[in-house]
Amino acid sequence: MARGKKIYEGKAKILFEGPEPGTIVQYFKDDATAFNAEKKDVIDGKGVLNNRLSEYFMTGLGQIGVPTHFMKRLNMREQLVRNCDIIPLEVIVRNFAAGSMSKRLGIEEGTQLPRPIVEYCFKDDSLGDPLVSEEHIAAFGWASQQDMDDILGLALRVNDYLSGVMYGVGIRLVDFKIEIGRVYEGDFQRLVVADEISPDSCRLWDIETGRKLDKDVFRRDLGNLTDAYAEVARRLGVMPKGTGPQKPTLVN
Ligand code: C5P
Repeated sequence: MARGKKIYEGKAKILFEGPEPGTIVQYFKDDATAFNAEKKDVIDGKGVLNNRLSEYFMTGLGQIGVPTHFMKRLNMREQLVRNCDIIPLEVIVRNFAAGSMSKRLGIEEGTQLPRPIVEYCFKDDSLGDPLVSEEHIAAFGWASQQDMDDILGLALRVNDYLSGVMYGVGIRLVDFKIEIGRVYEGDFQRLVVADEISPDSCRLWDIETGRKLDKDVFRRDLGNLTDAYAEVARRLGVMPKGTGPQKPTLVN
């Protein structure tokens, strides 16, 4: 499928105009960045794995009635998605303390939280995606109260789905980030889960061993990132066809 003009290039993906109005081709790069792009590398095969894994999670969410922007995977690195206006928030759901929450509040990593905690960060790289409250979101008009109710509902449903799927393959969903987009249907707007869901945007720990199977492997120099993501894909049965048990085939 011919992709159109490049619309936007981010840290891990490139967006192109899709074949029909209202569609976008989302291309997954191998680039890995952390700490607001202070640490960078190219990780062979990461884009291929994230394309597959995001397809798997978005399809599963669609099947249980959680709306997403995902339409179909096109090839090893590209998927067709619905164009949507991304709400400028990173919606983070945490089940166990880790990362910035552990640092901010002095809670040991791995401590189970009394209930899932949802946080919002303002999506702005130049500011380092600062944590914001619902007061900021309402005051600056980033989302209405109705949107926020819907976003909370979506975030918790994604959490239940992902926690269950990962638990089923022996992996703990520590936390994750999603982005939410608005799609317009006539006069109506609908909120959908957008962007990607992959080990780039989740913390995933092996339940038995505690092995990290997510981007912290890159952030913290814990080994081979592709091997970690391939392990998640292998357990979920979503390794690209015709490839060995560890390495994805690189095409496109
Ligand atoms: O760094 P922090 O602990 O706040 O991250 C929480 C979760 O959100 C992690 O799973 C991390 O991978 C994800 N995240 C992300 N993109 C960001 C910030 C955090 O995917 N810009």
